[in-house]
Amino acid sequence: MAVAYFHFYAELNDFLPRHKRQVQIIHNFSERASIKDTIESLGVPHPEVDYIKVNDSYVDFSYIIQDEDNIYVYPISVIDIHPPTILVRPQPLSEMRFVLDIHLGKLATSLRLLGFDTLYRNDYADEELAEVSHTQSRILLTRDKGLLMRSLVNYGYYVRSTNPQQQIIEVLRRFDLFNIVSPFHRCLRCNGLLQPIAKALVIDQLPESVQLQNDEFHRCQECQQIYWKGTHYERLQQFIDGVLQQKA
Ligand SMILES: [Zn+2]
Repeated sequence: MAVAYFHFYAELNDFLPRHKRQVQIIHNFSERASIKDTIESLGVPHPEVDYIKVNDSYVDFSYIIQDEDNIYVYPISVIDIHPPTILVRPQPLSEMRFVLDIHLGKLATSLRLLGFDTLYRNDYADEELAEVSHTQSRILLTRDKGLLMRSLVNYGYYVRSTNPQQQIIEVLRRFDLFNIVSPFHRCLRCNGLLQPIAKALVIDQLPESVQLQNDEFHRCQECQQIYWKGTHYERLQQFIDGVLQQKA
């Protein structure tokens, strides 16, 4: 039986059983295995890993673990004074776009409200989520570790909080999005972009009270939903202000 010694840093410990957190993990093995498969067998999904050091060298996911290896696994939050020569995470995305699993409907609405291109359906199958994330280079947000471990998923993140208000703050922090929010640019229903539209063109579709009190309207280019600054708008604005105050 061979043995390897694993050390997981910072938030990667969230995926380990309590007694294995923040300690050296002694991993016995007898079969040839890649470092990627072994890390996942210990519970840590590969999209959460930023770089890996084995003994004194950086390695990629295809590295085959050897007897007596000391393996150090780092998330994105840990910055090494000597920049790693090999990163296992994929190239940074030029645009932050998301696809969310079926349990994150409220988070999807919040991301759209803040202007982020966010795909969400309450009937996506796991295969479809992985496929969409892969083909469209979208960050898969999920609370399903097994889904994140699918090999198709390059960009993904396990949402730690179960509270929707905390989830949006967590995601904005994790992906450094506070400075690029663009509220009220996307349809909350379908993710389409909103465009200003003249009152005269939509007036016959509005309740009388709205006709009297509003002059500014936007319409979704996809589903044609009309938006105006009603009482609902004030509640949303308060929600946005509350979230943006959490910029750490
Ligand atoms: Zn729409």
